[in-house]
Amino acid sequence: MTSPFQLAYIGLGSNLESPIEQICQALNELATLPLTRWVASSSLYASRPVGPQDQPDFINAVAALETRLSPLALLDQLQALEQQHRRRRQRHWGPRTLDLDLLLYGNDSITHPRLHVPHPHMTVRAFVLAPLNELAPALTLHHQSLSAWLEGIKDQPIERLTVSTREPNATI
Ligand code: ATP
Ligand code: CA
Ligand code: CA
Repeated sequence: MTSPFQLAYIGLGSNLESPIEQICQALNELATLPLTRWVASSSLYASRPVGPQDQPDFINAVAALETRLSPLALLDQLQALEQQHRRRRQRHWGPRTLDLDLLLYGNDSITHPRLHVPHPHMTVRAFVLAPLNELAPALTLHHQSLSAWLEGIKDQPIERLTVSTREPNATI
């Protein structure tokens, strides 16, 4: 029996080696994951780094995918893509060519040594909530709308860019 498709939201971030290109390329790569079809991607956003401030600004986006991969299999695929983008893990919250976080996987709540879903910090990060709100304005997190969460962190600087991300071809 095959498992049903689940709607998953992925948060993307980059602040090294042409971040806009890194994110556009990663959006296309997400569309080619096995057992997965591309649904939508947000605009690109520029944001200040979380944690250490002595690093370049980030480019962020959120993608919506329908997938039959299990949550851990999807995380494996995301981490493989990070490695393809030559990500090096150095200091915590440091600069990176590509960061792919699994934000939401259907309505699942997952607590696993490798995976926490919904992503634990997403309600306090404008660079996640703003692009997610573009894709899914009716979503609620912990019984509160995305715009209400955003209202609570409106001091976080974030800028929506007008760069086109080119729609990838949906594949399965
Ligand atoms: P943050 O999680 O605060 O955004 P980060 O993205 O910099 O920090 P990473 O170094 O990319 O953190 O990931 C550390 C570990 O987090 C990964 O090895 C992964 O197993 C784990 N992890 C737990 N939950 C998630 C999730 N929802 N999405 C991606 N990785 C997760
Ligand atoms: Ca992250
Ligand atoms: Ca991550």
